[in-house]
Amino acid sequence: MTFDRFGRHINYLRISLTDKCNLRCVYCMPEDMTFRPRAELLQDDEINRLVTIFAELGFHKFRLTGGEPTVRANVVDIVGRIARTPGVETVAMTTNGLLLKDLAQPLAAAGLKRVNVSIDTLDPTKFKKLTRWGHVEDVWAGIEAAERAALGIKLNAVVVRNYNDKEDVVEMARLTLHHNWQVRYIEMMPFGDVADFQQAGVVTEKELRQTIEESLGPLTLVNDGELDGEARLYHLAQAQGALGFISSVTQPFCASCTRVRLTADGRLRLCLLREKEVNLLDPMRNGASDEQLKEIIRDGIWWKPWGHRLEQQVIPLNRVMSEIGG
Ligand code: SAM
Ligand code: SF4
Repeated sequence: MTFDRFGRHINYLRISLTDKCNLRCVYCMPEDMTFRPRAELLQDDEINRLVTIFAELGFHKFRLTGGEPTVRANVVDIVGRIARTPGVETVAMTTNGLLLKDLAQPLAAAGLKRVNVSIDTLDPTKFKKLTRWGHVEDVWAGIEAAERAALGIKLNAVVVRNYNDKEDVVEMARLTLHHNWQVRYIEMMPFGDVADFQQAGVVTEKELRQTIEESLGPLTLVNDGELDGEARLYHLAQAQGALGFISSVTQPFCASCTRVRLTADGRLRLCLLREKEVNLLDPMRNGASDEQLKEIIRDGIWWKPWGHRLEQQVIPLNRVMSEIGG
């Protein structure tokens, strides 16, 4: 078991499979984003080795993300290898859904249990504006394929003021009336070059709940407000699904945080909103043994930060979101 100095039990690893993406969401990366050369990224065997090491350290929950994880070559094999690693209990994925139409079934067969599909609005014009290139109907086809493949489904919407903060959040909420899905609203977080835009566009949970309640009626808190992962859950009367609010900026969930992240270039990112990282790639390529890597990981996790420093204008600048994985 692996603990940090605050006594938090850390057992959940999010792995960014690639920094590349087939979209350019306005809140995530600049349109002219440059990506890392392939040789700088973790190779399949390196991912496999690190997963085994993390599982031996007591990690049992793994999530694949990106960039866009489905554009990584061999993604189905990678999922299969992780799912078969002793100690691994769940493998999930966060994806923009564009390629799920064809991949949902093979991924489920390889051992994937759940997908979080990012879809910020159901309106095709606004979807294109937010993603710069995307067609919402492709995402929808991906969600349907995930449902056919019996994958658990959550939908993620990042809310951006003046883009999708009004009728779009209501239409997303309406989906839960007839689908047993969790629709989650994510508060926009500031990173790197796009921080000014992100900070100007944050919409708080309180505003969102008000917008939804004005159109669809009262929201009832689920589980007395106990967090489901990072989300606080509510439901609409008669709804099959739930609404989740992830308010990492205005209501951080540090006390219940169990996660660390592995960036596509092999750095252990200890907190999404802090720059502190531990390089695992170089020691691994320089011949470190499994025991030595475990020591580096344990030591890094011990120093996992608590709390962001956004209110003091300390914004993580060393990476944009797509390089960390969300
Ligand atoms: N490409 C995949 C996707 O979009 O789901 C996985 C990677 S993406 C970086 C992971 C999640 O982070 C997505 O739900 C995305 O909407 C969210 N995200 C990206 N930039 C964000 C930001 N600045 N603040 C909050 N969430 C963000
Ligand atoms: Fe790509 Fe996901 Fe970032 Fe959008 S949020 S640009 S889909 S990595």
